[in-house]
Amino acid sequence: MPLFPQYLTPEQEDELRQIANQIVAPGKGILAADESTGSMGKRLEPIGVENNEENRRRYRELLFTTDACIAENISGVIMYHETFYQKAKDGTPFTKILLQRGILPGIKVDKGIVPLAGTDDECTTQGLDGLSERCAQYKKDGAQFAKWRCVLKIGSHNPSYQAMLENANVLARYASICQQNGLVPIVEPEVLPDGTHDLYTAQKVTEQVLAFTYKALADHHVFLEGTLLKPNMVTAGQSCTTKFTANDIAKATVTALSRTVPPAVTGVTFLSGGQSEEDASINLSAINAFSGRKPWALTFSYGRALQASVLKAWQGKEENVKAAQNELIMRAKANGLAALGQYKGDVKSAAAGQSLFVEKHAY
Ligand code: 13P
Repeated sequence: MPLFPQYLTPEQEDELRQIANQIVAPGKGILAADESTGSMGKRLEPIGVENNEENRRRYRELLFTTDACIAENISGVIMYHETFYQKAKDGTPFTKILLQRGILPGIKVDKGIVPLAGTDDECTTQGLDGLSERCAQYKKDGAQFAKWRCVLKIGSHNPSYQAMLENANVLARYASICQQNGLVPIVEPEVLPDGTHDLYTAQKVTEQVLAFTYKALADHHVFLEGTLLKPNMVTAGQSCTTKFTANDIAKATVTALSRTVPPAVTGVTFLSGGQSEEDASINLSAINAFSGRKPWALTFSYGRALQASVLKAWQGKEENVKAAQNELIMRAKANGLAALGQYKGDVKSAAAGQSLFVEKHAY
């Protein structure tokens, strides 16, 4: 037995590297449409749409049948299990519609956040049991990448060593299992924006969490070129009274990443984390325009910040589908430009400035 047995063949590594590169191609990013049934209910309730399977299907059909030009800025879509196996009204599977547009189907494979005993209200993420079999099936059915979200909270004594160690380890196990089944793992250790902490505190916590994460990924021999990182941008707490500029956020974010994320990692696809659509675009653009050391692609994997205006324009009505799809195209274009550091803040969306913060956000 060699000291360092290789668990992926060179062909497997090539495939993973190619998928990861395709997702973070210049000017492109991910639409996160993987809200669980419960989270979808919270999105549909404000527009008066009942949270049932057919309405969820209608909404996702609206997203995925947006004009094929959307593929200029969207390279991948993350779906929830139910959505992954749903079809458009004409019977075409959603995965096929996406592939026809050159968009890669992705799948959320974690089974949600659970409390971590012995901590002050911290948590871990479950879903490792049977994960290899589920990944193999998803790959067969067209998935090319996966997502698993862990959550860390900032408090006077949090995140704890226990929470950072546990969440890093579970992310590494998930990543290793995905790669063995041909799926590029999106590694998501989200530091929540809840709290009064300042930008500096958010930066130091993000650095610590990412350092734990990459130590665990190394311990589990994860092939970094075949992974993507989905972190929070470094922003001050939601209830912090000091306001910081997009440039401050860009500097703190790039500094934190440069200190902790190996250059071998193919790309960073930020979550929007409750920022308004406009802030998420402006901040991503500032991050890309920032002159610090950035050896990875830096792009978006937004849920709320790509869908708020779409939902507002749709209101559950057939006659609004086109207008809602246009909102998606506009936000995708804005974020595509932001991924190149070229977004000027000139896209006017239906919900552009609206805060999308949700306390202790579950997905
Ligand atoms: P938000 O962009 O709404 O934060 O969500 C992205 C995501 O996929 C969180 O897991």
